[in-house]
Amino acid sequence: MSETIFTKIINKEIPADILFEDDKVLAFKDISPQAPIHFLVIPKKAIATINDIQQEDDAVIGYMYRTAAKLCAEMGVSEQGFRTVMNCNDDGGQTVYHIHLHVLAGKPLGWPPYQEKRKV
Ligand code: 5GP
Repeated sequence: MSETIFTKIINKEIPADILFEDDKVLAFKDISPQAPIHFLVIPKKAIATINDIQQEDDAVIGYMYRTAAKLCAEMGVSEQGFRTVMNCNDDGGQTVYHIHLHVLAGKPLGWPPYQEKRKV
């Protein structure tokens, strides 16, 4: 797998606004926020897409969600609510091929995210 921008962030080759880091995951603010709070949780292991998750990765995937919830609690948005999204491949809107959990909060978020175009 070719190196992505997220590997460079993990390796501190490019800066990011880091919220949490340990040996398994890194959480940092999205450079182009789509909500008042928008951060990403990534595994340190480079996994390209959801399709590439192996059984051995199950624990880190759960840990990514627990990290998201912990940070949302610290930010005081747990009760109000938040959204997690992990896009996969082109139709899913994935642009960086190192899996990442989007965490969005701080305002009511629209749902569903996709609407059929009305025929005229
Ligand atoms: P995707 O489209 O793959 O689901 O999400 C990729 C996300 O990474 C986007 O929301 C984009 O704004 C964010 N992103 C891309 N490059 C960088 C970067 O260099 N730094 C940070 N902090 N976020 C980035």
